[in-house]
Amino acid sequence: MEIWPYISGIGIAVGLIHLILFLILLFRRGKGAGEKLAMAYIGFSLLWIAAVALADLEAIFLPVVTESANGLIPVLALFLAVGYLVLVALLLEYPSWPIFATAGYTWTAILLVTTVYFLFVPPPLLPLEQVGIGSWASFTLGTVIALTVGLFRSRMAFHRNRALYWLLTANALSLGQALTLFPLGPLRMVGPLVHILGAVALLRGVLTFWLPNVKAALRSLFRFLFLFTATALLLAGVVMAVERLTAISVMPSTTWALFLAVGVALVYLPLYQALVRLVDRLLAGVGFDPAQTLRDYSQTISTVLDLEQLAQKAVQTVSQVLDVQRGALLIASETERGGLLLRPVPALGEVPTDPIELEPISPILVRLKEQDTPLFQYEVEHHPVLREALPKEREGLRALEMEIYLPIRVEGELAGLLALGPQRTGEPYAPRIVEFLSTLAHQTGVALQNARLFVGLQELNARIMQLNESLRTAYERLERLDRAKSDFLSIASHELRTPLTQIRGYTDVLNDLARSGTLTRDQITRITENISRPVRRLERIINAMLDASQLETGMSFHFAPTALAGIIRMAIEPWLEALQERKLTLLTYGLEDIAPIRADMDRLIQAFSNLISNAIKFTPDGGRITIEARPLDEEHFEVTVTDTGIGISKVDQELIFEKFYRVGSIDLHSSGEYKFKGGGPGLGLSIARGVIEGHGGCIWVESEGYDEERCPGSTFHVVLPYHAHRGPCRWKRPGQEG
Ligand code: ADP
Repeated sequence: MEIWPYISGIGIAVGLIHLILFLILLFRRGKGAGEKLAMAYIGFSLLWIAAVALADLEAIFLPVVTESANGLIPVLALFLAVGYLVLVALLLEYPSWPIFATAGYTWTAILLVTTVYFLFVPPPLLPLEQVGIGSWASFTLGTVIALTVGLFRSRMAFHRNRALYWLLTANALSLGQALTLFPLGPLRMVGPLVHILGAVALLRGVLTFWLPNVKAALRSLFRFLFLFTATALLLAGVVMAVERLTAISVMPSTTWALFLAVGVALVYLPLYQALVRLVDRLLAGVGFDPAQTLRDYSQTISTVLDLEQLAQKAVQTVSQVLDVQRGALLIASETERGGLLLRPVPALGEVPTDPIELEPISPILVRLKEQDTPLFQYEVEHHPVLREALPKEREGLRALEMEIYLPIRVEGELAGLLALGPQRTGEPYAPRIVEFLSTLAHQTGVALQNARLFVGLQELNARIMQLNESLRTAYERLERLDRAKSDFLSIASHELRTPLTQIRGYTDVLNDLARSGTLTRDQITRITENISRPVRRLERIINAMLDASQLETGMSFHFAPTALAGIIRMAIEPWLEALQERKLTLLTYGLEDIAPIRADMDRLIQAFSNLISNAIKFTPDGGRITIEARPLDEEHFEVTVTDTGIGISKVDQELIFEKFYRVGSIDLHSSGEYKFKGGGPGLGLSIARGVIEGHGGCIWVESEGYDEERCPGSTFHVVLPYHAHRGPCRWKRPGQEG
């Protein structure tokens, strides 16, 4: 009865503080669901405190007021418990929070309506107060369980800290409510006081992004309590000792007190310091010397030129003093679009190596570029600005499972990040440690630049080697071609001289016979026939030379509708006699299946004729030549000319299409137009290629290799478009991408 003024005084004071908290939130309204919920929570706390104060004013108010207030306290407390559970579930991103909210608020509404109804129509049918208290207890327990699960589920120190913070806040708020719900007499007035502590913590938790390190705060509290108790016990011991000693001796108590005071004063300070050290060691783990560690570190990394090794050295140094579980170096490089590519180089633990691309406008990138302070994964996930980053960026970073990213800068530019996972102790990185790590990252900058330069040099070196190699092959190729060109002089003179000699021989014979007057008409016919053959050959060689000379400047073509079968027939015709003489079989397949085409008929006859003459020349007597055509796709068809001849070595398969190139020594070639291994000026295939490519087609040869004994044969592939066109071949050879 006498305590009511105190309780209502406390009620008013606490109510006022709640009001201030409410107003603070009101002026910041609209900043998110969390703040709105917190505002509702504080508003209802105000009602609840009013109910408590009213219930305790029974002396001056009507009993009905007291009774109503008393009846409403459990419902209001339940409302607060539900509100807190919803708030926490929302802040810690539990997906099931709408279920809690719906169930909790519905139940509270039912209870509220029933309570109010029975206030006016007593007696109540149910023990409503007990039901209210029971429901309050269930929701409070639910919150504590949810927070404890969150605490254990999270491996990241900052997330754990956050869960711990909300757990402690929940405890303060529930304790405050519990004290008013249970009949504890004067202790009831402590309830609102404890509650206000919780409410202030709640406000701070909602409004500020960085929460205090709860573990560290608890540790300081524990340290203080321990030292406080130890000192109090020591002093109590002194007082008791003075009493005892005075009782059993003749010396007055002041003398004893003086003695003991001097004794205690002498040992107190060293004892206190020893205790402080002991407590610190027990609570904070073994200390380390940052300066020495950094000195050693910069010495070790000064010679490191390999990125992987650098990452390992950096993370190793950190793990020596901090007991971290994961670590990597994220190498930064600008993307073409002005973003940043982070390539992880793992050093400790299984770190995924997929690069993470930050867009040019990514808030994470802006934060990294503009602020030189370390970035925490906690910020990436919870900071209102950084949360706006693209999901792929946040997920990429989350997959690394790191806790802190320390920027490494080279000449002011972000060159990389030293990424570290959570500490094994589960503690967030303390400011002192963060400072140490930042210095370490700073020192890594120069080494990182060296390593990057080195990697760049290595790449450059590899590129030079590659260029060297292609230069060497190009040189060798040129050398072969050069040889071919100088061979051409002797070949050409040889090729031209043979028919010329024949012509000259026959004209001499003709002359002699004419002079002797024995020349018959029959002889004239035979001799002119014999002369016209080498003349034709000469003509062909000279034409080939003319065509070859056009290869560089571009041949002229006249595309017109025609048919493949006709072209091949005309290409074969000049060689029928040779085929017969050399007992070679020539077979054709599928020529009629090819739809009409648009091409330069004369040029294609020339090209195929060259292929056929080669097949005749390089196939021993009795061999077989097959010409086969087949459609490829809507735009192209293929013609293959296959022989059972001596084959072509892999090295020569590309070179034979060059002008004047002939395989082997010229002396080994027999003369004669279609004799086995008969010589030629080395122009046929280069002309064929010029013609085929001039139609927008392509030509290549396949052969197992050169072997005169086994005769593996060769297949010349010609791919042509149905509609000849200028420009490169649009058909891609299987296995030849790009
Ligand atoms: P040539 O006028 O000397 O025949 P080509 O350009 O037609 O010149 O051919 C170049 C070289 O390619 C020939 O000298 C020959 O060594 C080789 N060659 C061409 N076709 C065949 C083939 N069907 N079988 C084997 N070797 C061939």
